[in-house]
Amino acid sequence: MQTHLPIGYKMVEGKIHIDQEKADTVKKIYNEYVNGKSMLAIAKRLKENEIPNANHKTNWTHGAVGKILQNTKYMGDDLHPPLVSKELFDQAQKKRKEKTTQLGRTAQLNSMNNHHAFTNRIFCGECGEPYRKYVEHCGKPHEKVRWKCKRYIFNNKVVCKNLFYSEDEIKTIVTSSINKLLQKQNLLDKPYRKEPLKKDMELKAVESQIKELEEQEQFSSPLLAQLSFKRAELMYRVSRVDDYQFNTQKMKDCLKDVSEPTDFNEELIVQIVKKIIIYKDGKIEAEFINGLKFC
Ligand SMILES: [Zn+2]
Repeated sequence: MQTHLPIGYKMVEGKIHIDQEKADTVKKIYNEYVNGKSMLAIAKRLKENEIPNANHKTNWTHGAVGKILQNTKYMGDDLHPPLVSKELFDQAQKKRKEKTTQLGRTAQLNSMNNHHAFTNRIFCGECGEPYRKYVEHCGKPHEKVRWKCKRYIFNNKVVCKNLFYSEDEIKTIVTSSINKLLQKQNLLDKPYRKEPLKKDMELKAVESQIKELEEQEQFSSPLLAQLSFKRAELMYRVSRVDDYQFNTQKMKDCLKDVSEPTDFNEELIVQIVKKIIIYKDGKIEAEFINGLKFC
């Protein structure tokens, strides 16, 4: 069973517990970050001290540290015991916001760096690979910059024949997705789709079955083990509602001061657009950080 537990937790008999040693790593990361250490410096420190990450490896990146710093589960919820205080979590979010704003400004100063917002954000709907920036006739007067599927050329052969777009076209595509969102901002006020409620019912059913078996003292029943895993899986899915709420709020905050229609805004793209998928027939799908999708 795959549950992708955040580092610092472990599953014992189908329930989520704190994994003390790894929990200390998480706490230390929050404290270091709030006290001014960069994500990169923290990753370096973890690597040097050979601290294992969630995959039991020591190849820490600033991205992995970043994920830990914004995982709301560490404040605790129905299934995860709290690992960091809400104050510490909020301090870390404040710091990240400051840092991103700084970075956004630097990126805008350096207008040649616009493609940062697109790297690993534009995907091919035909083969799933990310789009890459290709520069043809580099340095010559007829130099051409185009975004193509990474598998356009594979092993010296043209493999994926999905559409090419110029940098300006990509900008227009992403910006119009954001403008569509701005028009339909009321979608962000809707509660999470009903699916988790169904899961809730399923969870209740599984829990009562477990209780029954326990009352009959059938502790070694294979069914009990199965049900325990099922419970863990269901509980984990229900907790995604919290991620949705967190990311929806983040989107609202980011859009608050943006008037419609907006021009190309790299910082905004980085903050709220999860991915843009390009299909061969010209169809384009945008997905935002809370999972909201537009065609
Ligand atoms: Zn492709």
